[in-house]
Amino acid sequence: MCLINENFLELQDSYLFSTIHQKVESYREKNPDKKMIRLGIGDVTRPLVPAVVEAMQKSVLELSTAEGFRGYGPEQGYEFLRKAIAQNEYQKRNIDITEDEIFISDGSKCDSGNIGDIFSSDCVVAIPDPVYPVYLDTNVMAGRAGKFSSKTGHYEKIVYLPMNAENNFKPDLPKKRVDLIYLCFPNNPTGTVFTKEDLGKWVQYAKENQSIILYDSAYEAFLTEKDIPHSIFEIEGAKDVAIEFRSFSKTGGFTGVRCAYTVIPKQLKGYTRKKEAISIHKLWSRRMSTKFNGTSYIVQRGAEAIYSEEGQKQIRANIEYYLENAKIIKEGLEKIGYETYGGVNSPYVWLKIPKGMTSWEFFDYLLEEFQIVGTPGSGFGPSGEGYFRLTAFGTREDTEEAIQRLQISKKKE
Ligand code: PLP
Repeated sequence: MCLINENFLELQDSYLFSTIHQKVESYREKNPDKKMIRLGIGDVTRPLVPAVVEAMQKSVLELSTAEGFRGYGPEQGYEFLRKAIAQNEYQKRNIDITEDEIFISDGSKCDSGNIGDIFSSDCVVAIPDPVYPVYLDTNVMAGRAGKFSSKTGHYEKIVYLPMNAENNFKPDLPKKRVDLIYLCFPNNPTGTVFTKEDLGKWVQYAKENQSIILYDSAYEAFLTEKDIPHSIFEIEGAKDVAIEFRSFSKTGGFTGVRCAYTVIPKQLKGYTRKKEAISIHKLWSRRMSTKFNGTSYIVQRGAEAIYSEEGQKQIRANIEYYLENAKIIKEGLEKIGYETYGGVNSPYVWLKIPKGMTSWEFFDYLLEEFQIVGTPGSGFGPSGEGYFRLTAFGTREDTEEAIQRLQISKKKE
């Protein structure tokens, strides 16, 4: 008899976006003539920029010659891309990160999910609530979450960090000691940010408690306001306590192409039960060279091209386009009386839903009355109940039409 990993049986429902997909498909089958506007899943719609396309085309041709052919690449990623990242994302901002601290991968979802491989299943984990669901589910799979209580909506062993209007969507420090802390800023789903001072408190906490912060800054490129940290490594001492995840998905339109990176400072240490300090960088390197065979050369050349002068201009234009959509959504909703958060340093607008409706009821209401697909806040954690996420990744036309549909109906009331 082959025993399964029973932790998987503790996972709740199917994954959020599959549930949305099923609901939307079932609605579509029954209403084939209605035009649906999708502002739900955080997938981009702008095509790849010319600089990336040219670089990828060139690299395909290179591989088609005997001299230019390459097989397996380095598991940590090609040096040309790691160097470009270190210089452009970190050193230009005076952040001391070098290319050997960067690991290239095929996505931040995999990295933020897989990082748990190198930590003990006994680690106490703190997770913001609401947040990107991958952090919680991968810890459930690893057995760090314990049993789920349908009464509280919580797993017994997870330390939840509620984010709500009362704390300005900035989680308070945990009351009990934790080992691993997930932070995600600009936050998915709330679109809210941490200042340097806010982040400094967490770095301090991690130092005092020998914890490690897993900092997901997949949406860093959307920051518009000054004095908001782009990287946790802008905070003094963070190299002793943090890992950072970044992705080209939303920055460069790479959701389908797949390329991301994880920064692990060489000085970051974890501990054995005998209190022996072990390099986290070494462990992750060993994990990656065992389970991963590198991101495609073509993709890495495409990602490198983002850092050319033309590439920067072109991807900035796309980011501005999405930020303008976010503004249209935010201002449009506020005009008809919704309370909104985010949408300034982020492609996500988080809105408070009318009293008396759950966030899944509001999902059904938007789908059935307006054919608008969004994401229910409760799908991101129990504190997301009462809220809803709309994304700015749609086309301008769809974004404007969605807001018009809502505004017209408000006028009719
Ligand atoms: N991290 C956050 C916070 C996200 O919202 C997402 C995608 O929506 C990811 C990571 C996944 O990024 P990738 O496409 O690189 O896997």
